[in-house]
Amino acid sequence: MNTNGARLGLMERLAEGPVICAEGYLFELERRGYLQAGAFVPEVVLDHPEEVSQLHRQFVHAGSDVVEAFTYYAHREKLRLIGREEALEQINRQALAIAKEVADDTETLLAGNICNTNVYGPEDEESIRETRKMFEEQVGWAVEAGVDFIIGETFSYAGEALIAAEVIKESGLPGVVTLTVHRDPETREGWTVPDACKRVEDAGADVVGLNCIRGPWTMLPLLREIVPAVSVPVAALPVPYRTHEGHESFQSLHDPDYDKFPTGIPFPTALDPFTCNRYEISDFTREAYDLGVRYFGVCCGAAPHHIRSMAEALGRTPPASRYSEDMSKHAFLGTDPTLRSQNTEFSDKM
Ligand SMILES: [Zn+2]
Repeated sequence: MNTNGARLGLMERLAEGPVICAEGYLFELERRGYLQAGAFVPEVVLDHPEEVSQLHRQFVHAGSDVVEAFTYYAHREKLRLIGREEALEQINRQALAIAKEVADDTETLLAGNICNTNVYGPEDEESIRETRKMFEEQVGWAVEAGVDFIIGETFSYAGEALIAAEVIKESGLPGVVTLTVHRDPETREGWTVPDACKRVEDAGADVVGLNCIRGPWTMLPLLREIVPAVSVPVAALPVPYRTHEGHESFQSLHDPDYDKFPTGIPFPTALDPFTCNRYEISDFTREAYDLGVRYFGVCCGAAPHHIRSMAEALGRTPPASRYSEDMSKHAFLGTDPTLRSQNTEFSDKM
């Protein structure tokens, strides 16, 4: 709330401190059995709206300041691919309505969302027009739903991010526009990451940064270069997977203990053994904060315990912190004086 009692907008909140936006709906709903890996289209907003609503609420409980409408990949190209273009507007409006209800109930910010079109080609004028049209229709529905701001994300072509930033700017709402960087530390056009972020800022984005594809440890070096290159708040939403040198993206991870994947690689349905634990997410959050990052989140693979760790690393106590661990009461590992010694003395034999 500001001094007039009105709810603070995104930029006002960022002026006061960091903002957390939980993401990763595609992967989490896929794991829960409500969304199909492959096309990765969020039909779940029509088929099981209660599951989407529940996940929004769980992320807010864990510390998210934002409810992001689940319109990721709810665009014309993806719906064409699954033969459901007729449902495009319905899916978008429904996703926005589900998110709005949760944001209103929890007094969090409501965000609209646009993303990589998979149509855009930097040399293809027709694709550039098509991309802009796809963004305009989705941004239009988000504006009509009354969102507080709009997220444009997962752009590996910076040129596509520039169009997103322009279209969001034209809506009059704040825009968070994040690039995604694959194995090579550059955009798909070959621009350096700090240069690309600066250009996205110049195109009108209010927050710029990175989301998806890279885990905490391969995203941090890029964030270190972005912060001094731009004058707007910087966003960081890594995937919670242990990417590392030589395997900078989650698509490039290889599992030394298992190789019978349907696709030949762990991505996207067998990344479990690479999942970052909650302490790694805390470590990342503190390091990124120290670098100057102010807009935080976790992308594909995120679960509520990651968001709680992120919130706690930023000094918050979200409702879920009521259940943060207290191992002093553990029957075998605890220190509570009333615990039975026959169990505590057995702890090193467990
Ligand atoms: Zn992602």
